[in-house]
Amino acid sequence: MSLNCEIVKDLVALYTDNSANPKTVAEIEEHLSQCEDCANYYKRYQKINEKSPVLSDEPFAAPLSYTKLARRLRIRRIWERLAFIAAIVAAVVATFCFLRWLWKIGEPDDE
Ligand SMILES: [Zn+2]
Repeated sequence: MSLNCEIVKDLVALYTDNSANPKTVAEIEEHLSQCEDCANYYKRYQKINEKSPVLSDEPFAAPLSYTKLARRLRIRRIWERLAFIAAIVAAVVATFCFLRWLWKIGEPDDE
């Protein structure tokens, strides 16, 4: 047994993700077959990992969804800006009409 329990527990994540090199895998498997504590830890880690996988099978799934989210936010910002401009235009037109109406009231009758 060349690995101690602390190191094996640290390496369980790499082992589960198949990211450990073959020599390390062999050592971890040897340790797990002999150490009940680490074997239990590995089982628990696998259960947690199944429920919330850190890495999905599609490596670009997360970046793609971030891109979509960013695009959606950008589109929403454009719409917000358009709505803001439309509100200003509406306010200017309303003020103009109101002033015209006021001016007409003050104007003496032509008839
Ligand atoms: Zn151990």
